Amino acid sequence: MNNLNEFYDLIIAGGGPAGITAGIYAARARLKTVLLERGLPGGQIATTEFLENYPGFPEGLKSQEFIKKITMQASRFGLEIFTLSEMTYLKEAMGGFEVALGEKRYLSRAIILATGASPLRLNIPGEKELTGRGVSYCATCDGAFFKDKVVAVAGGGNAAIEEALFLTRFASKIFIIHRRDQLRADKILQEKIFKNGKVELILDSEIIKIFGESKVEGCVVRNKKSGHENRMAINGIFIYIGSIPNTNFLEDILKLDEKGYIITNDELQTSLPGVFAAGDVRKNKAKQVAIAVGEGALASISAQKYLEAI
Ligand code: NAP
Repeated sequence: MNNLNEFYDLIIAGGGPAGITAGIYAARARLKTVLLERGLPGGQIATTEFLENYPGFPEGLKSQEFIKKITMQASRFGLEIFTLSEMTYLKEAMGGFEVALGEKRYLSRAIILATGASPLRLNIPGEKELTGRGVSYCATCDGAFFKDKVVAVAGGGNAAIEEALFLTRFASKIFIIHRRDQLRADKILQEKIFKNGKVELILDSEIIKIFGESKVEGCVVRNKKSGHENRMAINGIFIYIGSIPNTNFLEDILKLDEKGYIITNDELQTSLPGVFAAGDVRKNKAKQVAIAVGEGALASISAQKYLEAI
């Protein structure tokens, strides 16, 4: 079914913090705007439990509460949010742009891409087969299934360490398996993890296999220095090794960097005038909710200026 009779001023693709903030600004500017989201609003932050470094909340804030609040705020100003299916293309059409989500087509005069990123996979034997059966990319969603169980967390960045800390509420033991001898995570998180009696760090090591009949029963870990392989009994594994930008449908139309992140100028305009990008999908210096929110606001202001000028 086509929606080509509807011509929006602005289409925002992606309902994470960047996209929703762009929507708040656009709705307040009274632009005819629709936000298209492939799943539920929230983006990657929905897979985490808690936000500790977002300004204004000295005690921290539950990620789900944050998503709920910004979505309500956008709706209060009249932002239309459609949760449909995957965006399959973006092209120039009828003096503006056409995007497709599943069967539906939408037209607009400007676009903000805030499609975020998806978790990277380890790509090792057993990972795909046991996903949803002990292999998880979302501690918030699945952590409670591991009460009094032994789990592993793969990765050494902020996400891995924060989510390992979250898992200490449920699991009896958490192994953090990291490929180097130093964690990448912020020092404040490292201090917390070093103090936690349930957590054991396995450094200089990589997980090379996950095994189990119908659910995860263990993994094989190889020490990168000695080459020694250790078969560990675990009930679950949470993989937090970074992410890849959701831009595969944009390769032919926009300038991307070698990793697939969208390249923009200072106004967050992409290589295609009228198309802007914000948040984790953009080539920027750091991935943070506070940064995504700021970029969402800036992309929206830039889109407004663009629309006034054409
Ligand atoms: P990240 O910072 O890129 O860290 C990824 C971790 O996974 C690194 O420790 C990396 O090892 C490891 N890794 C990457 N590929 C691997 C592979 N194939 N096998 C094994 N290990 C692998 O990713 P992230 O933790 O998901 O965070 C993404 C962004 O969000 C970052 O900018 C982060 O600061 C931000 N973030 C911030 C917060 C916060 O401020 N509270 C919370 C969550 C995320 P190396 O260290 O050796 O590269």
